[in-house]
Amino acid sequence: MSIDYTDEKRGKAQDDEILLTTSFIREDDGEGKLRPQTLSDYNGQEKVKKNLAIFIEGARRRNEPLDHVLLHGPPGLGKTTLAAIIANEMGVTLRKTSGPAIEKPKDLAALLTNLNENDILFIDEIHRMNRAIEEILYPAMEDKKLDIIIGQGPAATSICLELKNFTLIGATTRSGQLSSPLRDRFGIDLKLELYTPEELRVIVERSARLLGIPTEPEGASEIASRSRGTPRIANRLLRRVRDFAEVIADGVVTKKLADEALTHLEIDRTGLDAIDRRLLSSIIKNYGGGPVGLDTIAATINEEPITLEDVYEPFLMQQGFLTRTPRGRCVTRLAYEHLGLSFAGNEQLSF
Ligand code: ADP
Repeated sequence: MSIDYTDEKRGKAQDDEILLTTSFIREDDGEGKLRPQTLSDYNGQEKVKKNLAIFIEGARRRNEPLDHVLLHGPPGLGKTTLAAIIANEMGVTLRKTSGPAIEKPKDLAALLTNLNENDILFIDEIHRMNRAIEEILYPAMEDKKLDIIIGQGPAATSICLELKNFTLIGATTRSGQLSSPLRDRFGIDLKLELYTPEELRVIVERSARLLGIPTEPEGASEIASRSRGTPRIANRLLRRVRDFAEVIADGVVTKKLADEALTHLEIDRTGLDAIDRRLLSSIIKNYGGGPVGLDTIAATINEEPITLEDVYEPFLMQQGFLTRTPRGRCVTRLAYEHLGLSFAGNEQLSF
C-alpha cells in the first residue's frame, strides 16, 4: 500500500481532519473545528507554551528548523493540536502519521524522503513504532541521513541518502516506553498536565461559542469540573449536554441542565464515570482495597490494561483516589468516602 498523508498548511486545519497514513484514523466529528490554531488560542499548559514560544522564536530568528520535539501526556490533552500549532507558528507544513501505521522501514523512508525543507513530521503514538524502524530514525534525526538497504541476501547494497532539514514531533501517552536512544534525540521534551477546571471552563466557553451553543458561565463550569482535566472530554460532554438542552429544555446550557445531563450520563460531580467507579469498587470489594496488579483488575472489570493505565488511572491518581505501589494498585480512603463505603478495617491502606 502506498503512503499518503495530509498536508496541513498554515491556518488550514480542516473540520474533518483526518490522519492519513497507511491506515485511516478519523477523529471525533467536528473536533478539528475546535482545534486552536495559534499558541495564544491554546488555553492552559502555561509552562509548555512559554517554553515553546521561546524555542519557536529562537529557531525563527536563526532561520533554522525547530529542534525535534517530544510531547507526552494522557490522551486528549492537546498533543496533536500543539503539533499543528507549532507548524502554524513556524509557517511550515505538518505531515502526520502514527507509530503503528509505519509497518516497514520503507514506509518511514518514504515519509522522510518526501518531506520538503523544514517540514514537520508528526508521529503520534511514537512508542508503538517497532524497534527496527526506530533505528532508521536515529541518523535521520541526528545527521539528516537515511541509511537504507536495497535488495536481499548477497546482492543487498546499502545506500545513504541526504535528507532535507526537518523537525520530528513525537507524541506519546507513555514516554517510559520509549527507548533511551530515541528519547535522547529529542532536543525539546514537553510534558502536558491535566487541565484545571478553570482552564477547562475557558475551553468549554470557547467551544460553545464556535459551535453556537448558548451556554451560561455556570453551565460551562459544571461541564469543565466534570471533564477529568481533559479538553477532548470537555468538548465531548459539551456536545452531549447540548443534546439534552435542545431536547428537554430551551437549548441553553445552564448549570442545572448540565448537572441533569451529566448525571444522566453517569458522570458524577468529580467527573468519574461508570468505569472509574467500577475500577475503584472492584479493588475494594474483590481485593480488600489493594494492592492488586493492573492485569488482574483489568480482567476483573473486563477492560484493556493499557486503557486503564493511560486513560483512567492518571485522573484517579491526580484526584487522590488511587495510588500505584510496587506491589500493585491501592485505593485510598478518599475513594471509599467518595463511593460511600466504610473504610473500617483498611487502615493499612491510608498511605
Ligand atoms: P491528543 O493529541 O493529546 O490526544 P488533541 O490535540 O487531539 O489531543 O486534542 C483533543 C481536542 O481537545 C482537540 O479537538 C482540541 O480542540 C481540544 N484541545 C486540546 N487542547 C486544547 C487547548 N489547550 N485549548 C483548547 N482546546 C484544546
